[in-house]
Amino acid sequence: MTQPLFTLDAILAATGGKASDVSAKAIDSISIDSRDLGPDALFVAIKGDRFDGHDFVDTALANGAAAALVSRGEGQNRIMVPDALGGLVDLAKAARARSRALIVGVTGSVGKTTTKEALRTVFEAAGQTHASIKSFNNHWGVPLMLARMRETAQFGVFEMGMNAPDEIRPLSKLVRPHIAVITTIAPAHLEKLGSLEAIARAKAEIFEGLEPGGIAVINADHPQIDLLLEAAKAAGVGQVVTFGFSRGVDWQILEAETAGDRSFATIVNGNERYALAIGVAGRHMLSNATAALAVATLAGVDPAVALKALAGFGPQPGRGQRIALGPSEKPLLLIDESYNANTASMSAALEVFGSVSAPSGKKMVILGDMLELGEAAPSHHAGLADAVRDSRADAAYLVGPNMARLGEALGDGAFSRHFTTVDEAMPEVLATLAYGDAVMVKGSNGVGLSKLVTAIKDKF
Ligand code: ATP
Repeated sequence: MTQPLFTLDAILAATGGKASDVSAKAIDSISIDSRDLGPDALFVAIKGDRFDGHDFVDTALANGAAAALVSRGEGQNRIMVPDALGGLVDLAKAARARSRALIVGVTGSVGKTTTKEALRTVFEAAGQTHASIKSFNNHWGVPLMLARMRETAQFGVFEMGMNAPDEIRPLSKLVRPHIAVITTIAPAHLEKLGSLEAIARAKAEIFEGLEPGGIAVINADHPQIDLLLEAAKAAGVGQVVTFGFSRGVDWQILEAETAGDRSFATIVNGNERYALAIGVAGRHMLSNATAALAVATLAGVDPAVALKALAGFGPQPGRGQRIALGPSEKPLLLIDESYNANTASMSAALEVFGSVSAPSGKKMVILGDMLELGEAAPSHHAGLADAVRDSRADAAYLVGPNMARLGEALGDGAFSRHFTTVDEAMPEVLATLAYGDAVMVKGSNGVGLSKLVTAIKDKF
């Protein structure tokens, strides 16, 4: 270890913990999963909904962890703290306090992970970058990601998610971003929050953690924009920068077009015009990439460097990945959108599918329930009918109880089929699909459409 992530002394100072017979002088990675340990790892025994990390401390140490941060139990190589998650938060604070990196926080109803990955792409082209992995964006994910940031990082990018009010504020106050991004406001987690306005207020909590003089970068293409602008002002944000397709925004997307699996647009910022190209299909992806371009420029990265990096930016797993299966002259084109779905991402994906041509056969969508919409669920599902028709699909297979509403709205029994579960749909889907077809699979994670994606990949 040239410069370790944390020395033992630094861990003890940050957490106030007591070392019990710890032989390592430093650790170089932090993990909460005993099966997934980095080199010289500190295993943090946090308690989740289903598991308590304390039950895996011995396994983690046997698997090579250098030490474990625990709140109970005895034995060697343990650092005792009153609460292991609290200890992780202390390490996160220590990592943030010593950092000289430019820090970006990202939240929003959809597009957080994509925008975070777009930012990783542009910052990596400019300097040493630390960004959250996957969608680690909650009360333990954010501290874990922050605690992993090395002192030498020049850029830090952190995704912040929420299911309810008062969750983003503490995350943002921990991360203390210099730039806070809101990707968009849309009906996700409507069940717990009740209204779009409440969703916007909850996202706006990110402004409260901004460093003094910090910058808010806000998507303006939704009805809650005024609320966000007011919230930014009330929070004393130093500078507000808007982006999107709407007129009058600071970073405006013009002439957007998608060709195949790439998208193009002209971005206008003041007197500057930029030609933006990305390796992902869809206007929504151009929006995320524009946020990344704006943030990078505000962070002092040369826009030309950012644009070059974005040209190589591709889709994230389960979020619009295109996979050609089988013979190259007549493949089955699978568009994997199985990671998640809400009204905004469903409409965006169907719009993109409208521009897709099947290699030689039929076009088919397999759509699963959008979860967590509460009372609004029936109308939001039925409301997709026009988007499904506009996608020029030849057939729609619908999976889950809520999707029955979409089936009714589509009306045509020959065009759409409804199934209650993925298992029920599986045999028919596999029997119907053929080489030459294009199929898009999209639904909320909880519906389990990823199982169907795996089965399609196995068969073709
Ligand atoms: P989650 O909170 O579920 O982790 P997220 O906010 O991190 O989601 P992504 O993982 O980037 O968002 O994308 C989730 C889905 O939303 C994908 O289907 C993606 O294609 C779509 N999506 C991404 N960005 C946007 C956007 N700006 N507008 C609409 N849909 C989007």
